[in-house]
Amino acid sequence: MTEVTLGRTDLRVKRIGFGGIPIQRLSKQEAVEVVAKALDAGVNFFDTSRIYTDSEEKMGAALRGHYNRIVIATKSYSRDAAGIAKDIETCLHTLGTDCIDLFQLHNISREEELQQVLGSGGALEGLEAAQKAGKIRYIGITGHKPWLLRKAVESYDFKTLQFPFNIIENACIAELIPVAQKKGIGTIAMKPVAGGALSRVDLNLRYILTNGADVAIPGMDKLEQIPQNFSVLDNLHPLNPEEMALLEKEKEEWSDNFCRRCEYCMPCPQGLNITFLHLLGVYYFRYDLKDWAWERIQSLPKKYQDCIGCLECVNKCPYNLDTPEIFKDTWDKILKDRRD
Ligand code: SF4
Ligand code: SF4
Repeated sequence: MTEVTLGRTDLRVKRIGFGGIPIQRLSKQEAVEVVAKALDAGVNFFDTSRIYTDSEEKMGAALRGHYNRIVIATKSYSRDAAGIAKDIETCLHTLGTDCIDLFQLHNISREEELQQVLGSGGALEGLEAAQKAGKIRYIGITGHKPWLLRKAVESYDFKTLQFPFNIIENACIAELIPVAQKKGIGTIAMKPVAGGALSRVDLNLRYILTNGADVAIPGMDKLEQIPQNFSVLDNLHPLNPEEMALLEKEKEEWSDNFCRRCEYCMPCPQGLNITFLHLLGVYYFRYDLKDWAWERIQSLPKKYQDCIGCLECVNKCPYNLDTPEIFKDTWDKILKDRRD
């Protein structure tokens, strides 16, 4: 099955969509080329966000004039009615459309946030007003915590759920997808290759799509990725034991301190580039690129030892990474290694 209807909406989409994060890295011309190529290849579900810097603008430049044959989804971090109303206007303008098919609350990560969006003057009031005015069609929600998303769909009739899904982040198979299926909610799998950490895109896409997700939205920023990703739909079938073993092996290689590079923990009040420091630790030890990583650590204005353990990043990390502890451990090991 290469197409699906998202839950109880009338949004009919191909099961591989287009994730809009990576086009931020491209020039506008390059981004438009990639999005246009995806459109030509038959991709008809495009997902972006207000907070992906110029991703909406680039998508808008490529997709303007094609909205009658695609589904456009975006999201906002605003938690109150006025803020989200303003964001919707900006999105409509930036994307170049008069109606957004799917508007999602972006990354609800704490219970208080959920209560805020649901409560009086909360973002849902703004979304419903925009829906009545014909500016958006359906309302969805995104997040990284299955228990919180479950709570969200028990509290409101969200039409779609978007969550990370790959061999490392697969709690959704047991904890979220069955609830979504029972309630008729469309499921959108983000981060199918764990933000680029996993090497087998094809296997992860098959894993996701044969384990209950309606659609997967790999981020794409290279022309060749489009036919590669899309070709998974040509012969969609469950992984065999050997293929599963490959994924499990790669999963094992990433331990509990796997940083997804989502940057939800940023900014650090002390000015540490948290994501990059996590990455440099991986390069130093896991890839054994010690001098390369050491040089880059030296060039950073703030290093591991500048972390004061304020826990701000820990509280914001959807994966509960104990960053100060990891940084202390990484720095101790690096110093020891440099001494030896
Ligand atoms: S715990 Fe350290 S890295 Fe995290 S926000 Fe505080 S100072 Fe920054
Ligand atoms: S520490 Fe957590 S929030 Fe920060 S980038 Fe890594 S996974 Fe994301």
